[in-house]
Amino acid sequence: MTLIRPQLPPLPESHAALLAQLALPQSNAWLLTGPARVGKRALATVLAARHNCARSGDPRHGSPLPCGECASCRAAALGVHPDVLLLSPRTVTSTGKAARRRIIPIGAVLAARDQGKDYEQHVYEFLEVRPTYRRRVVIIDGAEYLNTEAANALLKLIEEPPHRALFVLIAEDLRSVMPTLVSRSSRLGVPPVPDTELARLLAAGNQSENRAADQVSDAELLAFAAGRAGLLSDPDTVRAALGDARQLTGALREGLWSALEAAAALEKTFVPALHREALHFVWRSEPGAVRAAADTALEALQEALEAYANPGLSFQVFALALRDAFGEARG
Ligand SMILES: [Zn+2]
Repeated sequence: MTLIRPQLPPLPESHAALLAQLALPQSNAWLLTGPARVGKRALATVLAARHNCARSGDPRHGSPLPCGECASCRAAALGVHPDVLLLSPRTVTSTGKAARRRIIPIGAVLAARDQGKDYEQHVYEFLEVRPTYRRRVVIIDGAEYLNTEAANALLKLIEEPPHRALFVLIAEDLRSVMPTLVSRSSRLGVPPVPDTELARLLAAGNQSENRAADQVSDAELLAFAAGRAGLLSDPDTVRAALGDARQLTGALREGLWSALEAAAALEKTFVPALHREALHFVWRSEPGAVRAAADTALEALQEALEAYANPGLSFQVFALALRDAFGEARG
């Protein structure tokens, strides 16, 4: 039996099973919490599709999942559903040096307050329009990043949602979301996924030929994912990051020139959150002293990049510090 649809984001079975509960029509707002990249956004996307699917009320369809074939589901699969608004925090630089923070401001909710014209669509105006299919759904991926003004504006909409709109708030930690939002939402924890389910997801999506695919096995990818289905929505990127991390670590032992070359290559593909984790994963069996020194080098790199230091130079410094870290343990 497979619950995987080719078009909408594939859900692991245990997350698909949550849909029946989530799709109950009574709630105006759900708050989904769980670890980063566990699959919360995919679940919210499929839930929005289900609420608008032409067959979801049809007993002959008989599945908690949307059909994946009707006009609404096809639009959802393409990420262009007219009734779905997805909002996530942006990184803004406040005045001063390295202060960067992620935020969802009031300008995302009300067009009149969007002075920089940063948002194409605004929640308030989006909800004034009647749904094209059945129900408008606002997904807020990063509810902990709503500032107070934005959260208060949303609160009013959640209490009396125009045209029965549904809100799906997503957060890693319940405690970091404004209590007023929490108390007005139905809450559901999205748990990590067993490896057997993740392996099935991976097998279903294993079609692309990627240069990193032969370097990084499925077993390794599953170990890295550690139950986070969201990581497998783009397995090639994760494989590539693990491949990069392994290449850099191998180059450190080859010599200075190799290390600098590998660091320069890493600079071109560096996705901070992902590569940081990939490096930690590759270093997991190194002695504690090596890991501690390598960690310090990685933190220094991150600080340098956040302070807008010259990236090329920062990666060179990083390579040198790593060579020291790995060399010291050997010597
Ligand atoms: Zn459908």
